[in-house]
Amino acid sequence: MMDKLTAEGNDEHLAQINHHNSGWIEVIAGSMFSGKSEELIRRLRRARIARLKVQVFKPEIDVRFSKDHIVSHSEMRHESAAVRSAADILARVLPETEVVGIDEGQFFDTDLVAVVNELAGRGVRVIVAGLDQDYTGQPFGPMPQLLAVAEYITKTHAICVRCGQPANYSQRIVEVEGQVVVGASDSYEARCRSHFVPHADAPTKYE
Ligand code: ADP
Repeated sequence: MMDKLTAEGNDEHLAQINHHNSGWIEVIAGSMFSGKSEELIRRLRRARIARLKVQVFKPEIDVRFSKDHIVSHSEMRHESAAVRSAADILARVLPETEVVGIDEGQFFDTDLVAVVNELAGRGVRVIVAGLDQDYTGQPFGPMPQLLAVAEYITKTHAICVRCGQPANYSQRIVEVEGQVVVGASDSYEARCRSHFVPHADAPTKYE
C-alpha cells in the first residue's frame, strides 16, 4: 500500500487503492504554465476511457479561450460548463456522475471546500486544478484549504523564463493592480524563486 501511496506525480495508484466506494479529492496546484490544465485534462480523458461519468466545471470569470471548454496553454481541450459559484457546481452535478473536474479553483469562493467535501462524501472522485499562489506569492482563494483536505496533491512546476530552472511563481509583467487579472503570456511569466519579484505592481519584464 505504501509504495502505491508514494507514487507521486501520477494518479495510476489511485485506481488500485480500495476506497470502498467512497469518493476522494485530488488537487493539482502550481504556478501558471506549470501544466495544471494539461494534467487535469489527462486525468479526465482517462476517466472517460474507463467509461466513468464525468462532469467538468470552471468559473465564469475565466472565458479567455473558450466558454464551454477548459483549454491548456498547449491547446489541449476538454468540455466544461462555466459556473458563477461553488454552489452552482453542487446544483449541477447529476446523481450518476462519478468524476467531477474543476479548473481554476482559485477563482471560486470558499464554499468550494464544503462543496468538494460534500461530493467526495457522496462517492464522487473530485479533481481540482488551481493556482496555489497569486502574483504576489500569497495563497490564492480556497486553494490552501483544498490542499489541506485533499487526499492526493500534485504540485506542478513551470520553467523559469529567465534561467530554465523549475518555476514556482507567476510573475505579473503588466502594470495593473488587483489579485484577479485574467490573462496569459501577455500578462504573466513563470519565474523561479530567484527571479520572482514578489511585490510587483509595476512592469518587471526584462528587455
Ligand atoms: P497551467 O494550467 O498550469 O497554466 P497549462 O496546462 O495550461 O498550464 O499549460 C502548460 C503548457 O504551457 C506547457 O506544456 C507548455 O506547452 C506551455 N508553456 C508556456 N510557457 C511555459 C513555461 N514557462 N514553462 C512551462 N511550460 C510553458
